Amino acid sequence: MSRNVVTFHYTLRDTRGQVIDASLGGDPVSFLEGAGQIVEGLEEGLRGLAAGTRATIGVPAAKAYGEHDPEQVQRVLRSLLPIEGEVKPGDQFRAGSDQFAPIVTVVKVEGEELLLDANHPLAGVDLEFEVEVLGVREATKEECEHGHAHGDARGEGGCGNHDCGCKG
Ligand code: ZN
Repeated sequence: MSRNVVTFHYTLRDTRGQVIDASLGGDPVSFLEGAGQIVEGLEEGLRGLAAGTRATIGVPAAKAYGEHDPEQVQRVLRSLLPIEGEVKPGDQFRAGSDQFAPIVTVVKVEGEELLLDANHPLAGVDLEFEVEVLGVREATKEECEHGHAHGDARGEGGCGNHDCGCKG
């Protein structure tokens, strides 16, 4: 079965209408179907939409960044953390030295202890994507092998915009 690469622009809002993120003004997003490149509920909503379609796709938290897990909220001694200077609720930092370490959010400062939330910042948040589909094309064999889309809506440009290490 062939897979598609879909290219789209989006504006992401929470259910109160607050804009969280948007691709307008920047490059559109391309993804390979079935590769887990975008959140599950958004991929489901985009399935079958033709180029030129505008749509609003509601995605419940469970199909976006997951429900908020209370066990991911923990008290940690500040001295154990790689932070300097003043810390206040809402601050975010990486809980480790490598670039894939999870990002944690400071919920509360209690003396020498911090209450940290390691959930994704959008966990538990229902999302609404306003999308415009710019292009739908068949994925190349190379894209299917790599598990991600290459280049733009026409498939031009290789892996240059990925960190996968392959030369497109
Ligand atoms: Zn690649």
